[in-house]
Amino acid sequence: MKKHNFSAGPSILPQPVFEQAAQAVLNYNNSGLSILEISHRSPAFVAIMEEANQLVRDLLGIGSDYEVLFLTGGASTQFFMSALNLLGDKQTAAYIDTGSWSAKAIKEAQRYGNVEVVASSKDANYNYIPKEYAVPDGSRFLHITSNNTIFGTQYRELPDTRVPIIADMSSDIFSRPIDIERYGMIYAGAQKNLGPSGTTLVILHKEMLNQTGRSIPTMLDYNTHINKKSAFNTPPVYPIYVCMLTLRWLIDQGGVAVMEHRNEEKANLLYEEIDNNILFEGTTITQDRSRMNVTFVLKNKELEEAFLDKCERAGIVGIKGHRSVGGFRASIYNAMPRESVEVLVDLMKDFTAKNA
Ligand SMILES: *Cc1c(COP(=O)(O)O)cnc(C)c1O
Repeated sequence: MKKHNFSAGPSILPQPVFEQAAQAVLNYNNSGLSILEISHRSPAFVAIMEEANQLVRDLLGIGSDYEVLFLTGGASTQFFMSALNLLGDKQTAAYIDTGSWSAKAIKEAQRYGNVEVVASSKDANYNYIPKEYAVPDGSRFLHITSNNTIFGTQYRELPDTRVPIIADMSSDIFSRPIDIERYGMIYAGAQKNLGPSGTTLVILHKEMLNQTGRSIPTMLDYNTHINKKSAFNTPPVYPIYVCMLTLRWLIDQGGVAVMEHRNEEKANLLYEEIDNNILFEGTTITQDRSRMNVTFVLKNKELEEAFLDKCERAGIVGIKGHRSVGGFRASIYNAMPRESVEVLVDLMKDFTAKNA
């Protein structure tokens, strides 16, 4: 039986994507070849890469002033690659620290230029998004983590600044419409809301490039991948193919505005239960709650094992919280059906009826 997978990542993908991806391993498009054995220079794969690129543009309304790349090394490589390419030795960039991923991005950027951490919510174990801060004029960019996968917070509104924003959107890309003009760069590891692990989506405004005067190793230079359409070396053919299938699925569903509506409904359903159920409570401030990663705890920690057992028996997996928050985390990405959230909510009600 298919499980209800609340894992933070790698995570659930749409069922039709799993089915098409499985078929392509055996026989891609009736070619008599597996997707795993075709050349990255073949017309078949060049078409996949082009379609994936175009679907990203269509879904987010991205024009020709931006480059769209599928790279490797995960979002973690973008922590340093963005600063290496976009922040000169004597230049300043602003960063907001909203969790472990932000902190890692800050640490890496400090190798390359002057990093100003303009706000942090570390003082409250990252349970909110800072609101009051100033971004220094002349900053090359302001880096944010749009959704904090571990701590369960998410920006509802973008920071009030004219500086181009760089956003790590690993865990909420394509979950809602974005105002692309505000961004100098967006990056996202595929394995949360887009596809399997193995590729990282990078969206980059052309004017961000070539301002540092720095010599950059070929593979780490965005220009290399722009000039070779993300195929300077062998790209991750299969992960990019599965991303393309997910992007098609997103278009079929009606795009990111439809996703936003569904994600809001799913998140409200679960947060309502957390707020109304006397045994549970949320870990973040209400205003900044993530619609992707819902973090919550049992007020009585002694019941945790019993709750996890009950989840396991109901086919609910991946719900144990990250060690830095504890309790539980339900990741309810685009592909998570509302029915699975209902199963979890009913289970919480039943647990409380028996244990309160
Ligand atoms: C998972 C995650 C990362 C790390 O991604 P990798 O692809 O494993 O490097 C970075 N940022 C955020 C917000 C994440 O959720």
